[in-house]
Amino acid sequence: MTEKKGHLLDNHLEDGANGTQGKPGMVEVQDEAKAAPTDESQVTPATFNVLKAMVKGWVEEVRRGGRVASLVLEHFYRWLTVSSSRLYDPALYTLVHQLMHRLFLQLLAEFKRFGSDIVFASFDRLVIATSKRELSSAIGYARYVIDAIQKKPIFGAMELRPAKIWDHLYWMDPYNHGGLVCENPDEILAAAVALKQGKVMNVEAQVKVDMAWNIGNYLPPAAEICFLKAMTSLMAEVGYAKRKAKRQGTGTLIGAGILDAEARADVVESVHKPLLKSIRAMPRTSEDGAWKFPFLPGSHMHFKNPALEFIKSVIHVLSLNTELEEEVRDLRRRMLRVIDMTEFNDDANFVNPCAPFRLPQVICEFCNYCRDLDLTRDRDLLPKRADPGITDEDYADPLRAIAGAWSCPACRGEYDRSGIEQRLVDVAHRRLLAWQEQDLKCGRCRSVLAEDLRPHCPSCSGQIRTEYGRGEFVKRMKVFGNIAKFHRLEMLGEVVGWIVERDGWDVV
Ligand SMILES: [Zn+2]
Ligand SMILES: [Zn+2]
Repeated sequence: MTEKKGHLLDNHLEDGANGTQGKPGMVEVQDEAKAAPTDESQVTPATFNVLKAMVKGWVEEVRRGGRVASLVLEHFYRWLTVSSSRLYDPALYTLVHQLMHRLFLQLLAEFKRFGSDIVFASFDRLVIATSKRELSSAIGYARYVIDAIQKKPIFGAMELRPAKIWDHLYWMDPYNHGGLVCENPDEILAAAVALKQGKVMNVEAQVKVDMAWNIGNYLPPAAEICFLKAMTSLMAEVGYAKRKAKRQGTGTLIGAGILDAEARADVVESVHKPLLKSIRAMPRTSEDGAWKFPFLPGSHMHFKNPALEFIKSVIHVLSLNTELEEEVRDLRRRMLRVIDMTEFNDDANFVNPCAPFRLPQVICEFCNYCRDLDLTRDRDLLPKRADPGITDEDYADPLRAIAGAWSCPACRGEYDRSGIEQRLVDVAHRRLLAWQEQDLKCGRCRSVLAEDLRPHCPSCSGQIRTEYGRGEFVKRMKVFGNIAKFHRLEMLGEVVGWIVERDGWDVV
């Protein structure tokens, strides 16, 4: 179940301004504003009060129908967030963001109070697991909870709506998930009502297989096809087994042990044979063409064995379902045996092949839609493989790939590419600075070294190390280099190249 949520900011500031007795979070916020600032990184109460009064005034004017105030309010968050704006003050921005975060936590607490399990939560998306057996009752439950939450004045200005509903869901992260989904919850409700009226209606027909597996993109194209096929048949098998269990009444609740031991064994057995067949047909070394590992913006590892990487990805996804734990462990052993590897081999452990890079709070200049850009995983930002004139070969060579335009998902307006590149350059500089200015620590007792030029810790003679590992820094720079190449960001490429050259590291 997903709910999209509107802006947290105006509501929170306004609530703070009204004084909200009885709401612990809000009282805390007000106390924080009253506290005397200790340094310039904190906002004075006077500044915060001016901001509060200003926003409150605008909100009141909007309620009276003021169009200008409405326009000003729309742009307010951008003025507060963008560093080139006159209203920008890092301390004020941090404080407002903290307030938004607290309101967000209160919202999550409300959902938990109504008995939902939080699967994933961000400022624009919330995924919850309910204990309802039927899709229609899950939608009814979600609507009831949303209504109840929105009746509270503190959440009144928020927009919450159920966007998607999953029959069952394998969730790794927002870029890696799959399941049986219905994208229009109203269809399910309509089907359920028709069913009650005695009309013949197949509720399950509204549900389809939903696949978004970023990790699959990092497999050779031929292995990726096998991976998606395996995932699709797995989702279908689990869906079938759950429906059967529901009909027979053997299950308990959705997502909580609905399948008995026999049904679990059946599910794994049904995917087992096709999987072993695919693995036997796969080469053990990377070859050109369909068995060559692609090079993508998030690539940070060198893979050699398509069959092994395929097994690791499949098993990792299967193990997301804790219900099938034992069966999956056995399947893993059998799959690894095909490529003559034991389950205890370190190489058989899954590591996410994509190093994420998230640029937070990018605001559209046209419609003020605010989102985080993940330049290694957001599908709409990556260069399009299907563009005319781009072959797979071109795609594998980032210099030949054509970078697509980045556009806002809400209004399709194009993002300011050079502004985003400038932010990326700033991030690269800040990371370099953070690495250079970091503390030296003792590897044994973890105490920070106060004196320079000492090779050993004065208290325990342990070896001195840097706080952050060099490997992690190099990996991050490598990802920056990949992003620059893939998205054709020349300035960023030069900056990364300069950092690398200066330190003599082989980064890209
Ligand atoms: Zn827009
Ligand atoms: Zn020490």
